[in-house]
Amino acid sequence: MALFRKQTPQRRTNVAVKADYGDYKADLQKDFNFRCGYCDDLDNYQNAFYEIDHFVPHAYCKVLQKNSYSNLVYTCRHCNNAKSDKFPTKDETIHHDGTIGFIDPCHADYANQLERERGKIIPITPLGVYMWREMKLYFLRHELVHTLERLDTNIRALRNLNFPDGHIAKAILLQLYEKAWEIREQLRQM
Ligand SMILES: [Zn+2]
Repeated sequence: MALFRKQTPQRRTNVAVKADYGDYKADLQKDFNFRCGYCDDLDNYQNAFYEIDHFVPHAYCKVLQKNSYSNLVYTCRHCNNAKSDKFPTKDETIHHDGTIGFIDPCHADYANQLERERGKIIPITPLGVYMWREMKLYFLRHELVHTLERLDTNIRALRNLNFPDGHIAKAILLQLYEKAWEIREQLRQM
């Protein structure tokens, strides 16, 4: 098994206050390293489908405002739709009871609930199972995006080495291109 993610997203504390939470999208994109806070999918592959989630849904907020930056998560449409207004503790100060509920993805502990198996997200704690089920982290697309990112990294590394024609690495490169193209097509049709 591999680590769920390489980097913990971090919200800056000095972002200028904006009245409409929708105006924070570019700030959030940067702070979340261009990835969905929940599934860690890079936004490069379907940029148009990234949104802003209120970690504690507005209905349960007493102190937090709709535009409180500390409560916003850069998220793919799929995780945002699946999480929706779920927040079982119904309390903005208590996020989970150790088994049921959610962890803010900007906490390092979020990644301790999940791992990767060939790109697939695997829950490894009861709380991980809860989040995985409720946010549908079992969707095939997360495995595909993760695999595609790894393929692209390998393609770039090989291409930069500039092997002469006929070198075995050229054949491997071609295979990687084909596999990446296949996955892109699969994602496009989802
Ligand atoms: Zn996501």
